Amino acid sequence: MFHDNYDIVVIGGGHAGCEAALASSRMGCRTLLLNLNLGNTALMPCNPSIGGPAKGHLVREISALGGEQARAADASTLMIRWLNTSKGVAVRALRAQCDIKAYAAYYTRLLQTQENLDVHQDEAVELLLSGSRVSGVRTRHGSTYEAHAVVLCSGVYAGGVAHVGSVAFPSGPMGQAPANAFFESLPSLGIRTDRMRTDTTPRLNFDTIDLSETRRQISEDAPLAFDIWGEKRVHSTDDFACYFSHTTPETHAIVAANIHRSPLVTGEIETLGPRYCPSIEDKFLKFPDRDSHPIVFEPFARTNGSTKEVYVQNFSTGLPYDVQVALVRSLPGCKNAKIVKPGYAIEYVYLSPDQLSPTLENKTIKGFFCAGQVNGTSGYEEAAAQGLLAGINAALEVKEKEQVVLRRSDGYLGVLVDDLTTKNTNEPYRMLTSRCEHRLLLRHDNADRRLSPIGRRVGLIGDGRWETLTRRWERADEEIQRLRTTRLAPSQEVNRALEKEGAEPLSEHTTLAAMLRRKNVTYRLLKSLSPPDCPLDEDEVFHTETELRYAGYIEKEERTASRMKDMDNVLIPEGFDYDGIKGMLTESRQKLSRFRPRSLGQALRISGVTPADVQLLAVAIKARH
Ligand SMILES: Cc1cc2nc3c(=O)[nH]c(=O)nc-3n(C[C@H](O)[C@H](O)[C@H](O)COP(=O)(O)OP(=O)(O)OC[C@H]3O[C@@H](n4cnc5c(N)ncnc54)[C@H](O)[C@@H]3O)c2cc1C
Repeated sequence: MFHDNYDIVVIGGGHAGCEAALASSRMGCRTLLLNLNLGNTALMPCNPSIGGPAKGHLVREISALGGEQARAADASTLMIRWLNTSKGVAVRALRAQCDIKAYAAYYTRLLQTQENLDVHQDEAVELLLSGSRVSGVRTRHGSTYEAHAVVLCSGVYAGGVAHVGSVAFPSGPMGQAPANAFFESLPSLGIRTDRMRTDTTPRLNFDTIDLSETRRQISEDAPLAFDIWGEKRVHSTDDFACYFSHTTPETHAIVAANIHRSPLVTGEIETLGPRYCPSIEDKFLKFPDRDSHPIVFEPFARTNGSTKEVYVQNFSTGLPYDVQVALVRSLPGCKNAKIVKPGYAIEYVYLSPDQLSPTLENKTIKGFFCAGQVNGTSGYEEAAAQGLLAGINAALEVKEKEQVVLRRSDGYLGVLVDDLTTKNTNEPYRMLTSRCEHRLLLRHDNADRRLSPIGRRVGLIGDGRWETLTRRWERADEEIQRLRTTRLAPSQEVNRALEKEGAEPLSEHTTLAAMLRRKNVTYRLLKSLSPPDCPLDEDEVFHTETELRYAGYIEKEERTASRMKDMDNVLIPEGFDYDGIKGMLTESRQKLSRFRPRSLGQALRISGVTPADVQLLAVAIKARH
């Protein structure tokens, strides 16, 4: 039988696996990426888009850490827009519609040309152990690959069962084959698994939709890019747009008449699906009073590009195929629309993420890392971000260096991993801005300041990019300092300019920073009154304005975050015996023994563990030292 040696084996070539393999190989570890089917590399089995609120923040953080998803999105963008601009600086985020083939091709090319990385089509069927540590992987072809670390990024392929009405069949996403063997062996290794569900929409043929009955939405005309170092581009609106429509009373009548045929109602599906992305039948059951829901037709490529397939956003369903046809035809513009692929619900197996430490390594099997949908998350961005972190930490494990743990105040990725490891999840976990308590600290515009020093330290950000960043930071910092120290006198010229913009005139000497906090005063106006030595680019202007306008709030959040950081810095010794702590509630003791938190901060965030018991724990840790 074939045998080979690697530092790291990554299982899966989806969004998580691509990032994990690229990170570990770039950090100098000999890496093998195994994928069931190399044709599905970086497949988007759902909507052809990257980003959006919270997800866009994750993409920017991936870029800041030295990952690739932002560049894959930029390389395949068909249309890009800012979202949430009226809801505040913290939550505004980019969202791009992508050409799904170009997105996959970008990753495929990188994987195939990356030094230290081999890519191979085969199915991992068994995790090999030596005592309580990983020693490699066995594959369907009978090959064994020895490795110091294994990163599992196998998505929704394990135990996959697709449902279209009463028709149920074993399947991975989008008609891919399922892969069960690897997971079947996990319970015997003491690893807990569970099942959950997700759904997707029917895909239509673009040419069969009457667009005159829809509302067209095009790209923003400003140059935009996800990648921190990327070239910002304006995207052509001639041959790509999305089209808004809505469900009608007829749609709702069809759901009502057929809801008894939904596998959710017949009891064939018992697993929980994505709360924030409900199927049309879920919406019908949960919001019976609504008679219309918005939907969006999102093409997978340009008008004359590689495919005519169109995704129907907000229209996922597991209803029978004949009902899907009727539902689609009830939508404005779809009287003659043809379904290319039916929608379906898919149930699958995932690993309970409370078994992971915040490095994404399994707490009991050393060297076994897990990332992506296999941890119970949903979304390309959530998967890619975890893959990057797991790849970095697997490489650090191989090099016997301290692993990266991100705190909640470091980034959305820190929040995501902390939520998974301290709260577990029994329904697909999606990143939301509301999950973050430090939103004002975790902005799109400062992802590089928060995370690039980590990317640099682990070796994913080279000299050139690092210099570009530090020059940008210096420029913006100097300008912030200048605005804080430069005072303007209340001259006629200044007050005329202020009044022209609808701002209050000055009555005394005032710093530019204080002026910026006034209504209708912008950096552009201040720049005209007091030009800087070195002009800032658009991103630097946004950063400067935000830091100064919200300085008071930012400082307040920093103080709160710093208190939690102190708690996160008190580490709980490995194998700590909670039974020895007198006076602790049984629930706290059980939860702490099960989750085995890494720090006091993590212990505090486990639901059911009281602050009083965390105090007892703090005393016990101190006493044992
Ligand atoms: C039907 C459906 C609807 C969805 N809807 C949404 C949505 O509305 N919004 C959203 O954000 N996200 C949605 N998602 C989720 C999103 O597609 C996933 O979260 C994301 O693709 C997960 O990325 P991943 O890398 O973890 O796994 P995947 O992209 O699933 O990749 C897994 C990879 O592992 C490989 N693999 C599996 N087992 C093995 C093995 N044993 N050996 C070797 N290779 C293996 C597979 O070939 C594949 O390459 C949906 C997914 C599905 C399936």
